[in-house]
Amino acid sequence: MKQSRLFMPTLREVPADAEAISHQLLVRGGFMRQNAAGIYSYLPLGHRVLHNIQTIIREEMNRAGAQELLMPAIQPAELWEETGRWGIYGPELMRLTDRHDRRFALGATHEELITSIVRDELNSYKKLPVNLYQIQTKYRDERRPRFGLLRGREFLMKDSYSFHATQDDLDEEYTNMYNAYSRIFDRIGLKYRPVVADSGAIGGKDTHEFQALAEIGEDTIVYTDSSTYAANIEMAETLDRYDMQAADVLALDKVDTKDNKTIEDVARFLNVDPKTTIKSVLFNVDGETVMAIVRGDHEANDVKVKNALGGLDIQMEEEATIIDLFGCEPGTLGPIHSPVKVVADYAVKYLVDAVCGANEANTHYTHVNAERDLSHLTYHDLRFVVEGDMAPDESGPVRFARGIEVGQVFKLGTRYSEAMGATFLNEEGRAEPLIMGCYGIGVSRTLSAVIEQHHDDRGIVWPKSVAPFDVHLIAINTKDEAQVELANRLYDELSSTYDVLYDDRKERAGVKFADADLIGLPIRINVGKKASEGIVEVKVRATGEVLETTVDELPRVIT
Ligand code: ATP
Ligand code: MG
Ligand code: MG
Ligand code: MG
Repeated sequence: MKQSRLFMPTLREVPADAEAISHQLLVRGGFMRQNAAGIYSYLPLGHRVLHNIQTIIREEMNRAGAQELLMPAIQPAELWEETGRWGIYGPELMRLTDRHDRRFALGATHEELITSIVRDELNSYKKLPVNLYQIQTKYRDERRPRFGLLRGREFLMKDSYSFHATQDDLDEEYTNMYNAYSRIFDRIGLKYRPVVADSGAIGGKDTHEFQALAEIGEDTIVYTDSSTYAANIEMAETLDRYDMQAADVLALDKVDTKDNKTIEDVARFLNVDPKTTIKSVLFNVDGETVMAIVRGDHEANDVKVKNALGGLDIQMEEEATIIDLFGCEPGTLGPIHSPVKVVADYAVKYLVDAVCGANEANTHYTHVNAERDLSHLTYHDLRFVVEGDMAPDESGPVRFARGIEVGQVFKLGTRYSEAMGATFLNEEGRAEPLIMGCYGIGVSRTLSAVIEQHHDDRGIVWPKSVAPFDVHLIAINTKDEAQVELANRLYDELSSTYDVLYDDRKERAGVKFADADLIGLPIRINVGKKASEGIVEVKVRATGEVLETTVDELPRVIT
């Protein structure tokens, strides 16, 4: 492609409304333009990257045995009424009415639609399992569309749905998809972590999110360096509310509670400074470290103890189980002087209660973790470890990081098939609901996530696998005949092997270099003063490495 012909409207200035670096660079580099809040056009450069991401996704989905189809974006309201989601989904679902007053939704997701398709067809165990996917535009009227493609109202998603006769079969496919997702994000060049996630309102139990690590991310994940374990603690809102930072866990102060008998005593003993950031409390039960993450939830007044992270193998100083305490309405514990104190009070109160069996919190705890009876324990068995900046020389092994949810895999079970009467005949000839899984990837969000991780102060640094072109060929001085002649020749030759963007514009070198850095193709070939000697300069965008080479050696140098 000759750059003189490419529709690539670049900007020198940072667009005023663009907070996220990926949003700024996509607009400045001429990859996209905004048409309305959360609604964008992908210009040729952006479209090429999207295409490359989709190719990787298609290759890996097909290789994993899934089949591509394409469903409509417009879906009849009746399907959403069958599952009750027409009501539940709320204002995020975009709705419209046709000329006959029939109601429709713009697809935010396609569980209902796919289930309506298969319910008449997948009627025997002999036809199972099946995994169907599409790459399609989704619509969600997000409360806060922001950060460009990271949270759009119209966006591209790869969504797939699998159907099974047995739970074991679903489990197997879940692992298959989990592995396919890992290959996809590896190939795209993202640093990510699969994390245990909250199954929330959809029900079902197993679900993982694939979180691309980036400061702009709206999710907070907790992980350790020494194990593959990680989880979404879904406390980003709480962090905002308490004005806390999701930074690494700092110091751990080990407090011996042997001589303290009451909650108040323990709280006093912990001597929590109002400036201390407390995100969780570790304590020791029967030689096992237990970590509680505490957060407030305005919607629930009751105390719910959720074993969000329990049972997983976490390598810390000691083996640990993590409990997520939530549902604590701030302000119910009497006079509270600072948000941090609220968290500390709750931490102390509910941990002690949960472990010592002092009140109903324990009921919830034992309810969610029934195989462990902790009721025999007393304060004497506890060792509190408070994270924060109180003993600041020791850094903790549990870390917090911000993540962008680029994908999610989910065992749906029979929620949709039961509601919509999607059954199959099992081997004994009895009708049973189809067992389902669903698996999503935010295609357009992934594009932005890549940039969040791969840029420098001059622009984007595309990983090879998704770059809009492989090679940026630049004729530095278009008035110099030898340069133009050699650049033309290289353009022809390299184009048989590579996607080449050829900057043939009559612009100053400085302008060309600035644009080249901005759009970030992996390899740049500068055809300059030494063109007459058959020598060009190769620059690697990611490392800044520059080397001269003869034209004969060039193919070897750039592979
Ligand atoms: P989020 O928590 O960010 O709102 P979600 O959990 O609602 O996302 P899913 O229903 O799991 O999203 O959809 C599958 C994937 O679609 C997500 O993992 C994400 O990558 C992508 N996605 C969801 N909402 C958006 C959006 N508004 N803009 C861009 N991508 C999105
Ligand atoms: Mg959402
Ligand atoms: Mg989510
Ligand atoms: Mg999700």
